Amino acid sequence: MRIWKTTAEWTIHRRTISGPTIGFVPTMGALHRGHASLVERCRAENDITVVSIFVNPSQFNEAKDLDRYPRPLDCDLALLDRLQVDDVLLPEAKDLYPHGYRFRIEADSLTKEMEASHRPGFLQGVMTVVLKLLNLVRADRAYFGEKDYQQLRTIAAMVEEFFIPTEIVPCATIREPSGLAESSRNALLSADARQKAAAIYRALTTSNNLQQAESLLQAEGLQVDYVEEHWGRRFAAAFLEGVRLIDNVPIAERK
Ligand code: AMP
Repeated sequence: MRIWKTTAEWTIHRRTISGPTIGFVPTMGALHRGHASLVERCRAENDITVVSIFVNPSQFNEAKDLDRYPRPLDCDLALLDRLQVDDVLLPEAKDLYPHGYRFRIEADSLTKEMEASHRPGFLQGVMTVVLKLLNLVRADRAYFGEKDYQQLRTIAAMVEEFFIPTEIVPCATIREPSGLAESSRNALLSADARQKAAAIYRALTTSNNLQQAESLLQAEGLQVDYVEEHWGRRFAAAFLEGVRLIDNVPIAERK
């Protein structure tokens, strides 16, 4: 497994690759089974698998959230090695943003749903870093989880509108046996909160309407940020022990 710590070294190496197909999985690290499923699919569908680990400052709207984001780099690299990843990109912020946050990608003012209004700057930060990474990797395919469905949808739209020649491949959400969606932020929860967090999936799949889903979350001690339906899916964002968790399911999967 090759590890690239600078975009300059990676770019020189990238110029030597022509012919084999390249698949790309961008991540922020603290890798779990959800990330592993993206990597496995990427390996199955491409000759070369590239994974990036970069905790992107521009998508955090709260400094505290960025500070405490888990960064278990040695464990992550050991997992990627076991998964037989070919190349890992570990750029630093000053390398990806050499002039600070000078340019950014922004959706129009009609994009107001959920994360767009509840986490100002989040989608801009994600799209900006993903555009940079897609341009650096120049992959045939890039893999994104449905766990972050609005992000996936926004990236797919950006790629289409900017004629980026990388296919965006959506991947199903991987869950713990309780139904809780795997997430790097789950590591920040106490054992007790982790059990309570399973209420998010239960609320999304068993409630008859949005009000009922919200009440169920509150009854379990979660502080609801939103419960909404868009694009045939039901979404929830809620806080537990100060950690913000999100999830979504297709409405057709309601039990
Ligand atoms: P992150 O490291 O949280 O930025 O996530 C990197 C990629 O993994 C994104 O495309 C996420 O949507 C995806 N991902 C995160 N959690 C899961 C999950 N539980 N199941 C499937 N994909 C996931």
